Amino acid sequence: MDTQDNSKDFAQQALEELSKSELKPTPDNFSVYYNYFSDSNPNLKMAINMLLEQYGKLNQTQCTELFLAHISLDAESKVLQTTTTSIEDEVKKMMGVLTKSASDTKQYNQTLDAFSGNLQSPDSVDQIRGAVSRVANETRIMAEQNQRLHAQLSQSTQQLTEMRYNLDEVRKASLMDPLTEVGNRKFFSNEIARVIEEAKESETPLSMLMADIDHFKNFNDTYGHLIGDEVLKLVARTLVENLKGRDIIARYGGEEFVILLPRTTVKDAIRVGDQLRSILSTKNVRRRRTNETLGVITISIGATQHLEGDTHDSFIARADAGLYKAKETGRNKVMAQEEDPPQE
Ligand code: GH3
Ligand code: MG
Ligand code: MG
Repeated sequence: MDTQDNSKDFAQQALEELSKSELKPTPDNFSVYYNYFSDSNPNLKMAINMLLEQYGKLNQTQCTELFLAHISLDAESKVLQTTTTSIEDEVKKMMGVLTKSASDTKQYNQTLDAFSGNLQSPDSVDQIRGAVSRVANETRIMAEQNQRLHAQLSQSTQQLTEMRYNLDEVRKASLMDPLTEVGNRKFFSNEIARVIEEAKESETPLSMLMADIDHFKNFNDTYGHLIGDEVLKLVARTLVENLKGRDIIARYGGEEFVILLPRTTVKDAIRVGDQLRSILSTKNVRRRRTNETLGVITISIGATQHLEGDTHDSFIARADAGLYKAKETGRNKVMAQEEDPPQE
């Protein structure tokens, strides 16, 4: 434990070490060293010792990495950490209640044993009356305890259910792109593994579309980022509304969207992509306030089909290469490396 006295020592040591290593005494750097000297974070201590052994002192990049990995937690981890602690507390509470109940039951059984002992060789009616009254009393206490136990357990269960709901919400939010409300890159990484597995098992084709908004930089430069953001939402909505429920869509990067099409060959994927592209190109983007027409947004799309032996990266790279080809050859079109798009 840090007492006030040795916390001064730790602070002093931290500052001295920062100065020796020629690191700025920023709050982040300071907290790395403070935690090191106060021994409050064993993983951090071990990581620093390993670096010191190798390099003699820490540089700024290492210090920042240590801070991010061991001290600062992102919002999601923070919620997970506090929720996990709350769940542990709740489980401990339940265990306590159950242990107490077991010992109460034991005591009650002893009373019953004593009672049956008394009845086997009663000396007087008074003795029987006394024993019966003791048992009645113990039974009432036991019933009350049971009721309390029941209430405590159901309260704990309710709290655990709430925590699980919170965790689910955090998990869902951590997989969603907040602007366009489609999945984010992390969601895509999870899903790609799942659908590849599913395609292998069912021996069905799996295709991917990689879509990128055309000349979006110009659009942003002309109308501003806020309207650009509205366009991103419009593109995402158009894709979602025109895809099947089993298709998977995610925002892959700034103005790029990736779509996984289970049970679809590249030929059909090109057709789907072309339809999405065509629907979007008929929408007139308008400034909401003034209804002024800002023109048409187009997307270019690369298509590909999953091949045996593909890694996630090689699968994505082929979709990307198709997209590049679509950009190179004039934009607002779908291209695949494997096959040319259908002629209209
Ligand atoms: P290309 O047709 O070759 O794709 O041209 P481009 O201008 O779309 O491509 P480039 O990669 O040069 O620029 C992408 C632009 O997308 C840069 C940036 O202005 C915009 N962008 C990326 N993310 C966002 C975002 O979250 N909001 C907004 N408003 N714009 C974004
Ligand atoms: Mg791009
Ligand atoms: Mg673009």
